[in-house]
Amino acid sequence: MHSFSSHEVIHGNRDSGMVLLGDHAMNRLPPSYGTLGLDAEAFKRHIAYDIGIEGLTRALAERLGVPAVLSCFSRLLIDPNRGEDDPTLIMKISDGAIIPGNHPITAEEWQHRLDTYHRPYHRAVDEELQAVATASGKAPLVLSLHSYTPAWKGVPRPWHAAVLWDTDHRAVLPLLDLLRRPGDILVGDNEPYDGALKGDTMYRHCMAKGLAHALLEVRQDLIGDEDGILAWADRLAPIFAELNADPRLHERQIFASRTGPYA
Ligand SMILES: [Zn+2]
Repeated sequence: MHSFSSHEVIHGNRDSGMVLLGDHAMNRLPPSYGTLGLDAEAFKRHIAYDIGIEGLTRALAERLGVPAVLSCFSRLLIDPNRGEDDPTLIMKISDGAIIPGNHPITAEEWQHRLDTYHRPYHRAVDEELQAVATASGKAPLVLSLHSYTPAWKGVPRPWHAAVLWDTDHRAVLPLLDLLRRPGDILVGDNEPYDGALKGDTMYRHCMAKGLAHALLEVRQDLIGDEDGILAWADRLAPIFAELNADPRLHERQIFASRTGPYA
């Protein structure tokens, strides 16, 4: 029997000055949670994790030789990409139905999930960012990988990929430009949703600390199998390397968030 780990650090060259993140990389639950009372099929869908992102992050970390931090628990347990006081931190409802393992929930259980899964993941992100800053002698560039469904409430999403962001444009604008340059894909700019969210991963580790960053979403049907993952790793690796070579993306600069003042 394996002990359940909240996160995995993929070791890479810390001198590179780059860190990849996969908040929603996995759909696992610690065995004691069973399936949270849901049909096991729910864990194969987007509600449980970002399909394709574990493989894509591993492939990019390997191609670029850079470190990455992956969360190892399903977002249905507790969502690592939400602030600790966000009401959607532990989802009550999924696909219109109550999640029995999440609602009702005691204050003790809420705290247990924070202490055992959410906080250790964020501590690991913090530690890796600090280690990369020390080893490289510069502010790390952070690239966060997610995936989204091809349609939402029956409305198709035409974008192949999207960059979601708040106000720090330093990595975002060149990333959008590099993704669009070949002309073969449609790239959303803060679509299908807005990237400014108080307390989320980019907010706490990057916006509040002045690290250049981008959150890249890939449509999940494009990275649903190994061929798709490798094709996207081929597409993204040279783009990420080009961004990382820009010294302006390795300086600390704090931008005011659209979500309001930093605490
Ligand atoms: Zn995600």
